[in-house]
Amino acid sequence: MLNRRGFLKTGLTAGAAALPFSTAIEALRPGAAAASSQPEAVLVPLPARLAPADHAEPWQQRIRRVGQSNMTEHDPAVMDIEQWADYWHNCGADIVYVSVTGILAFYPSKVRFHRHGKFLNGRDFFGECVAAAKKRGMKVVARMSPDLNWGDALEAHPEWAMRNRDGSVQFNGEEPRLFRTCMFSSYMDDYVPAVMREVNSLYDVDCFYTNGWPPLGSLPECHCGICARLPPSNTAAYWHAFNDRLFELWNKYDAIAKEKKPDSFFFANLGGNVHAGPDLDRLGRTAVWFQGDNQGRTYDDPAVWGATLQGRVCNAVLDGKFAANITAAYSTGDVAWRNAAKNPAEATMWLNETVASGLAPYYHFIGSENGFGEDRRWQKLGSDYFQWTAKHDAHLKVRRSLANIGVVMGQSTQLLYPGPATMRSHTYMRETTHGLYEMLLAGRFAFDFVHEQRLDLDRIGKYRALILPNIAMLVDRQCEQLRAYARAGGSIVASFETGLYDEELKPRAEFALADLLGIHKAGEPIGTNGNAYYSRIERVHPVLDGFADTNWLPGAQNRIPLQPVHDPVLTVVPGFVRYPPELAYPPVSHTSEPAIVLGESGQSRTAYFPGDIERTYWLTGHGDLLRLMHNTLRWLTRDERVVAVEGEGFIEMFAWETGPGYAVHLLNYTNPSAHHGWMQTVYPLGPQTVTMKLPEGVRVKAVELLRAEQSVPFHLDGSTLRFTIPRVNDYEVAAISAG
Ligand SMILES: [Zn+2]
Repeated sequence: MLNRRGFLKTGLTAGAAALPFSTAIEALRPGAAAASSQPEAVLVPLPARLAPADHAEPWQQRIRRVGQSNMTEHDPAVMDIEQWADYWHNCGADIVYVSVTGILAFYPSKVRFHRHGKFLNGRDFFGECVAAAKKRGMKVVARMSPDLNWGDALEAHPEWAMRNRDGSVQFNGEEPRLFRTCMFSSYMDDYVPAVMREVNSLYDVDCFYTNGWPPLGSLPECHCGICARLPPSNTAAYWHAFNDRLFELWNKYDAIAKEKKPDSFFFANLGGNVHAGPDLDRLGRTAVWFQGDNQGRTYDDPAVWGATLQGRVCNAVLDGKFAANITAAYSTGDVAWRNAAKNPAEATMWLNETVASGLAPYYHFIGSENGFGEDRRWQKLGSDYFQWTAKHDAHLKVRRSLANIGVVMGQSTQLLYPGPATMRSHTYMRETTHGLYEMLLAGRFAFDFVHEQRLDLDRIGKYRALILPNIAMLVDRQCEQLRAYARAGGSIVASFETGLYDEELKPRAEFALADLLGIHKAGEPIGTNGNAYYSRIERVHPVLDGFADTNWLPGAQNRIPLQPVHDPVLTVVPGFVRYPPELAYPPVSHTSEPAIVLGESGQSRTAYFPGDIERTYWLTGHGDLLRLMHNTLRWLTRDERVVAVEGEGFIEMFAWETGPGYAVHLLNYTNPSAHHGWMQTVYPLGPQTVTMKLPEGVRVKAVELLRAEQSVPFHLDGSTLRFTIPRVNDYEVAAISAG
């Protein structure tokens, strides 16, 4: 049997095709070089190809590229409208944003309190921009901003303002002359519709969009007369009221958009990935355009995969409806320069991630001073990138994900759960998400997100395993759906406080999935003071493959104590003193408290980690936690894969069915800036060998690398397709044309 390196070396030559498949897959294992008791990985055939779409798509489904020069108050004085329209048209943008706003009118608005920008001078700047875009065949989004207004509006309508607990008005932090408008107030019922109707009466726009509302990734906190009667912010009851109001307004604005043209629509600013504010299940049923305002890394979401994280969230709730993720060409972050370009390698990777996750790229810069911007370095990058995508639209437009693992997004847990009693922190769940995400990328697993409100078997039956990463809040109906999934043969891994709270965040006395996972709570969460707990190895099991020369493994930072189980695989050695070293030994070196609980019933397997293993991995990077999770996922799925990508490097992989065939996207995150800061340059990867098993009767005409713009040879052994991508710079897309 070849070891990993031996296989890779062989894989460089034509000899790779002659290797028995099982040998090739053997090298995929994290512990391939170590003795193994697990069966070898199995490629499962892809499902039969979808029939061609038999209905005409709404126009927004055909949008492939979105452009925005975000207009400033000064732009009417300096922006060259023809140059602006030429740039986006030459890029291949299908649609551009033009600012109506609501804070400052870019046209001679007659709506009261719609203040004209001070450089407008009666000019119809909005109308000229719309005409220039339309002349070039581009559609137009009318961009509004209902989140702020000025003192004269406040004086006439004090009820429009968001209020602090002491009754004082909430003002914008940077421009204190602007107050924050309350979404529950008549500002949203009267003022915003008046602006929309005025625009519809004067111009031919294609749809309406609100910037600045709803809030991203958190819930508002207001103490105005209306909000004072609502439940307290950051409670489940408030979240329901927030969603009811949000969708009431969304539907109202959508109806106004359609008053002029039935194929027009309204959409709002969205983002916040798994901790989005609006209920993503309801949103997915309402929105026809998901605006991923996820423009760059943030302090709370510092990893490079921020755009794919957003993309996976969109895919979980939209059922194929349109989504675009924004790439800020300007410098995003806590220290920001909104009018200076960011590192080209970083902006390019964000665009790559958008495309790889199946979303339309959307490129964005602020202001048009001095010849379309003081800093013009962003322009060529966006133009080259858009033109590249335009050449390959057929292969880049996705039809469905081929993933065989589902990660449950507990949106309510992400928004409302404050962390365990041992560790209250607003970043707790974000760290959990990033830890699991990195683990899945490192194992090159093919996974989708699944929304907690969408656990019906029709939807989740396609996944071999579901992951519940500390989904603390679970309702009874969801637990029933998970049981039905397991009865149908699906496997489940859960961790830490999963199911220990109900939908109102009330603690449960017992795990909601205690029966399914074979676990019983024996106490309250235990944190770490000094040495964190250890997991003592009790017996041989496939989840321990590759561990040698140790009696124990690291546990996690926090855990829930469990009652003993029969024949445990790992048991807890409780944490103890770290300093002074004289006392750094375990006073209790052996217990019967389980550190993992495994179960099996028919085809279904279950695993439960009592510790917060994903988040602890994010904090520490400990390879034992990574190996333990990878082994567990392999055991749960019986190591079934839909696509195997073998080679060196830290990558993110997407596998899609497309119109012409299939597409395998590889994003190269092997970079010192993968976890923090921005990419400065690219560190190319060597060969990556892709193997997948096609459905019966599907032939292959060609395998083309879209970034390298070259075809590669491929081998078909029966229905098993294998080819090698010789090199991956920042990104590669292997486009498989089926015949
Ligand atoms: Zn309010």
